[in-house]
Amino acid sequence: MLNFSPFTEEHELLRHSFRQFVEKEIKPYVKEWEEKKICEREVFTKMGQEGFFGVSFPTEYGGSGLDMWAAVVISEELSQANIGGLSMSLYAHTYLPLPVINAIGTEEQKLKYLVPALKGEKVAALGITEPGAGSDVGGIKTTAEDKGDHFVVNGAKMFITNGTMADFIVLAVRTGEGHALSLLLFDTSTPGFSAVPIHNKLGMHSSDTGQLFFENCIVPKSALLGEKDFGFYYIMSNFQEERLIAAVTGTAAADAALWKAKKYMKEREAFGRPIAKFQVLRHKIAKMAIGVEACRSLAYRAVAEYIEKGPGAYKIISIAKAYVCEESFNIINEALQIHGGWGYMEDYGIARSFRDIRLMTVGAGTTEIMHEIISKIEMDEVKHEKQLIKARV
Ligand SMILES: Cc1cc2nc3c(=O)[nH]c(=O)nc-3n(C[C@H](O)[C@H](O)[C@H](O)COP(=O)(O)OP(=O)(O)OC[C@H]3O[C@@H](n4cnc5c(N)ncnc54)[C@H](O)[C@@H]3O)c2cc1C
Repeated sequence: MLNFSPFTEEHELLRHSFRQFVEKEIKPYVKEWEEKKICEREVFTKMGQEGFFGVSFPTEYGGSGLDMWAAVVISEELSQANIGGLSMSLYAHTYLPLPVINAIGTEEQKLKYLVPALKGEKVAALGITEPGAGSDVGGIKTTAEDKGDHFVVNGAKMFITNGTMADFIVLAVRTGEGHALSLLLFDTSTPGFSAVPIHNKLGMHSSDTGQLFFENCIVPKSALLGEKDFGFYYIMSNFQEERLIAAVTGTAAADAALWKAKKYMKEREAFGRPIAKFQVLRHKIAKMAIGVEACRSLAYRAVAEYIEKGPGAYKIISIAKAYVCEESFNIINEALQIHGGWGYMEDYGIARSFRDIRLMTVGAGTTEIMHEIISKIEMDEVKHEKQLIKARV
């Protein structure tokens, strides 16, 4: 464990009350929501009523005004319920669309969308991915045609979390050639909008994933978030919190799986002794523990840097996201192995952790895209060093 804690007494009080919430309002429904392949909307209402969505948002919009460590507390405690799908739905509401509204929205937009979303009265989603464009954001084809006092939106979005439940979507649309994209605050009550649930997923069963269709949807100009044609820039610079939360969540999920594996090794017997006696398995535990600590150190360092620099911390956030999402999958895979055949069954929850964690290297920017970002920064550093040497000569 780290020999210092970034958490204050206030964070620990939050942890205590949210832990009770998870015990009462989430854990009893895990099986039901996973089987139904959707969580109840009521859980959003309750999260909002208790103030758990707004922990790191400003008080003037209904948040608690705490820092990002409060969001870490929520993620860590949520991971204890081992329901990746629901966790993803709650994060996709809080840390995908809301930070960008908070950062660049007008006062009117914040009052109309941010405030009810933090209260749990409105469910939010982020709509970037399309059937033909995910990592390649510049390839977005959904258009918003400028008609003077309004836009007309046509196109489709794919794999959108909270897609069928959302009341509004921060929607990426094409408003010109090349990288001329814009963000719209899109009300799902708009005529011409429809959403179809996607159920055939490997994991994250309790999350609502939707395919969205837009047919001649009329959207007022007041729905434009930030500047027109600046959407690509906003997407590249304002979506760091989802990667940060992915790193924290992956760490917590791996830690929970390590704990389950240790307990199981004490209980299970083979060849007349507890399997914990086998050195090969004990060494697996050692490697998993090293992995968890490495994940936590990177994730926490990324949080600390984000608090200091905001989106400017994108290098360490990309490093943490890439490393944790790959390593947490390896750790959970080993935890399943330690459970033998029972790991493959639903009984111990490891099978669900394994299914759910698999998404982490794909969602919120794939590992390959994180590597692209990191390698670009690394190589640019060399370029700048050469310029510095030239200047000195
Ligand atoms: C359950 C689920 C929930 C999701 N929720 C949302 C959501 O709420 N909102 C939203 O907008 N999206 C969401 N997504 C979409 C997700 O963000 C994308 O799937 C992801 O960004 C990858 O895009 P893609 O699927 O189009 O894959 P592609 O971009 O087609 O990638 C295919 C492969 O090519 C690799 N690749 C692509 N470009 C490069 C490159 N330049 N260099 C090297 N390798 C590259 C990728 O890493 C990957 O391995 C969700 C997806 C899932 C499965």
